[in-house]
Order: sequence, then structure tokens, then C-alpha cells
Amino acid sequence: MSKINLYDIDMLRNINEIRVWELAQIFFQKHSEYCTCRECILDTVAITLNRIRPHYQISEDDYSEAKNKVADEEILETLKLAADKVKKHPHHL
Ligand SMILES: [Zn+2]
Repeated sequence: MSKINLYDIDMLRNINEIRVWELAQIFFQKHSEYCTCRECILDTVAITLNRIRPHYQISEDDYSEAKNKVADEEILETLKLAADKVKKHPHHL
């Protein structure tokens, strides 16, 4: 019997995706100059996630290894670049 179980893919988490979501909340609270409608937040996070290297691990408990490779400051800087880009070309009406 195969030891590979396709349902185990649910066990894998991109920790940097979770970190980007957490830091995005802090970022948008601090920077009221950016629109916080659903489209703008999703666009900003999508652009950021495409620029930040993923960090997959099995448990969500410990972020320390991911933080060693990509610092919070780098994610916050990338969120700012992404938010500036979205502000110039927003998808909202
Ligand atoms: Zn917007």
C-alpha cells in the first residue's frame, strides 16, 4: 500500500501565506491612505504572495524558521509596494 496519501496535502501549510495575512491586517490599520475594500486587500495580498517565497511546513505552530528566511520587515515592505501598485490601478469601481 502506498505511503502517499493525497489527502495529506491538507497537512501542508505555506506559513508565509499565514504571515502575510496577519501582517496585512497590521499594515492596513497603520496605513489609512490605502483603500481597504475587499478587492484592494485581495489584490495587495495576491501581489505580495507572488513576491514572497513560500515556506511550507507541516505544523502551523512554529514560525521561527520561516521568519529567519523572510523577516516581517521584508513582508511589510512588499505589502507597501503592492498596496502602492493597487492604489495606482485599483479594480474597485
Ligand atoms: Zn478599493
